[in-house]
Amino acid sequence: MSRYRRIPQMAFGRDGIGRRMGRGMVRKRSGGFRVWPILLFAGFGVIYYFSNSETNELTGRRQMIAISEDQEIALGLNSYNQILSQAPVVQGGVHYQKINEIGQRIAASTGETDFTWEFNLIDSDQANAFALPGGKVAVYSGILPIAKNEDGLAVIMGHEVAHAIARHGAERMAHQQLKQWGTMAMGVAVGEMDIGAQRGIMGAFGVGAQFGAMLPFSRKHESEADYMGLIYVARSCYNPEEAPKVWERMAEASSGNNTSEFASTHPSPRTRIEQFREWMPEALEIRKKFCGDQSF
Ligand SMILES: [Zn+2]
Repeated sequence: MSRYRRIPQMAFGRDGIGRRMGRGMVRKRSGGFRVWPILLFAGFGVIYYFSNSETNELTGRRQMIAISEDQEIALGLNSYNQILSQAPVVQGGVHYQKINEIGQRIAASTGETDFTWEFNLIDSDQANAFALPGGKVAVYSGILPIAKNEDGLAVIMGHEVAHAIARHGAERMAHQQLKQWGTMAMGVAVGEMDIGAQRGIMGAFGVGAQFGAMLPFSRKHESEADYMGLIYVARSCYNPEEAPKVWERMAEASSGNNTSEFASTHPSPRTRIEQFREWMPEALEIRKKFCGDQSF
């Protein structure tokens, strides 16, 4: 007999919520913070991390990556073709040749054999360069005065190539996915609280995730690309000592009104230059080992 009494309470279709709403009873939210969605998310996050974690060969850093290399390469190729189809690609000339020559040497020094390398020069005022998964590299002519010479260009290309080799894009995707799930869990956790409190907590969570996780990771990626790039520069017999000079020129170029998009996403030049100083003995040692006493 209790069965019949329970049914209307459990119904949540037309008979449940519909009827309650029909009576004009708008429930006022004044409940507390639910902890279980956060615990669930934390548990899930740990599993997600450990089941999608791999180690960077050159730096030993553990990183979270959730898509396969093939998927990533396909995404890279797609974006590359899209960008090139809309950009004034330079087909020849001395800069084009240099970019290809330097690119091939840097690429060979990475030991990456799954990539089909491609190097392009884009005619643009932008001081920019990028490398996408699969080895798809582009240099914008606006960065050439900052690169200044072959060694400088090798530094820039080494840095960009390192981002692709270290799968930083895929790692960022995994972080964004986790942040999205975290935001959902947080939404459920505060769902019963009043709107003002909900907004406050969600806002703080967004800021915390940005400054506590996303930005530190992006700086970590930059430093890692600097380090790996420097090793590639040394292995391919360019001068690693040009690296701090390139970033000084970059800082100078972006301090004027000609703001460089490339520099704006990168850490402070002072930190960067200090790190290069720390890594330089190792880089010079590597250069000697790979290239002998061949002068710069
Ligand atoms: Zn970078």
